[in-house]
Amino acid sequence: MNAYLLQHAWVDGRVRDAVLVEIEDGRFTRVAPDAPAAGAAGAAGATRVAGLSLPGFANTHSHAFHRALRGRTQADRGTFWTWREQMYAVAGRLEPDSYYELARAVYGEMLAAGYTAVGEFHYLHHQPDGVPYADPNAMGEALLEAAREVGIRITLLDTLYLSSGFGAATQGVQRRFDDGTPQAWQDRVDALRVPADGSAGDGDGVRIGVAAHSVRAVPGGALKTFAPYVEAGAPVHIHLSEQVKENEDCLAAYGLTPTGLLAEHGVLGPTTSAVHATHLTDDDIRLLGEAHAFASFCPTTERDLGDGIGPSRRLKDAGAVLTLGSDSHAVIDAFEEMRALEMDERLATQERGHWSAAELLRAASSDGHRSLGFADAGELAVGRRADLVTVDPGSARTAGTGGDEHSVVFAAGAPDITQVMVDGRVVFEGDHRSVGHTLHETIGAIWA
Ligand SMILES: [Zn+2]
Repeated sequence: MNAYLLQHAWVDGRVRDAVLVEIEDGRFTRVAPDAPAAGAAGAAGATRVAGLSLPGFANTHSHAFHRALRGRTQADRGTFWTWREQMYAVAGRLEPDSYYELARAVYGEMLAAGYTAVGEFHYLHHQPDGVPYADPNAMGEALLEAAREVGIRITLLDTLYLSSGFGAATQGVQRRFDDGTPQAWQDRVDALRVPADGSAGDGDGVRIGVAAHSVRAVPGGALKTFAPYVEAGAPVHIHLSEQVKENEDCLAAYGLTPTGLLAEHGVLGPTTSAVHATHLTDDDIRLLGEAHAFASFCPTTERDLGDGIGPSRRLKDAGAVLTLGSDSHAVIDAFEEMRALEMDERLATQERGHWSAAELLRAASSDGHRSLGFADAGELAVGRRADLVTVDPGSARTAGTGGDEHSVVFAAGAPDITQVMVDGRVVFEGDHRSVGHTLHETIGAIWA
């Protein structure tokens, strides 16, 4: 058993002082605020943790390899579609070994930013000519191994990708994504095994989930492949209405919006995550709300790509559950994603106060974890996975801000994180410079 005395911690929706936590087998067995005042047994021998400790955050939408593009796609004006060509150039270069190295560096950056779990939306499956590797899951296994190595939990969302767009055959690097048929994809996913030793702490840090890339890449008839997963309550993720053009093409092809098409094929449910959900009709919002689906917003990527501002508050009010992802990793900073949800609403409506700091923390922690199949994480509570993200309330950014939830959500940045624990194991102790060094070496090798 390990005991920690947290100077301040976010417990039951508010900041508490002197919180004594005890941890066994990677889970909290005791969470006791005001420990010294109450003369709590065990407080004297506990390891002191200065600062404000928060639950672990879940990064609900990641493509690890996009991190290699950060800062390299800004020189010329471009569109989402020209950015995609640059992304394909990176995708064409990676092999299982280099993908492992890159993912390890990127997951290290995520941990240092307070993410204790990642949903990896994985579609880079095959060799550059489209032929499967000798081990057809070599790329997915590289991602699982990278997560295990750094100690972040992972839900590998293995992605079906069959078409270049509404029926057109995949071409060029897209052949790396394409399994040919839903059955071939299914067979490969069925062969994907969770490593016996798991990824972190108690050895239960890996989940296998599934994803449909988008209604562009998965024809209407193939979408029904996902209905049994929704019925079984497994995580099912899909890019949805990120671009106006996707909506127009979908209406032309099927006479339905992308959301309408998902509803038609039984893909909407309480374990479905609609990623982006940017350009929605009133009916789309109603369908996602009635299904109590997750909406995985990725505000820093959506603004980088010029996607638009999705209706986050209207989705929540309709019954959907908001989560947050860093997607293309133009930014990896959970605090920045949280406040961006509120700031974007302010810009769109010219009013303040749509999302409270407490709601944003919940979206980033417990709701995010639930969407990745880790319903037992994201809260400082007895029985939950022992994740802790500790923030320095005295940095140049946070000093003088009050040291409460508004301080972390509206003022803090990833560099203010001093310690991260995942499943009871301390995996980051504040050395942000070393995280940068690893990224520099790894990404440099890819572009060399
Ligand atoms: Zn994405």
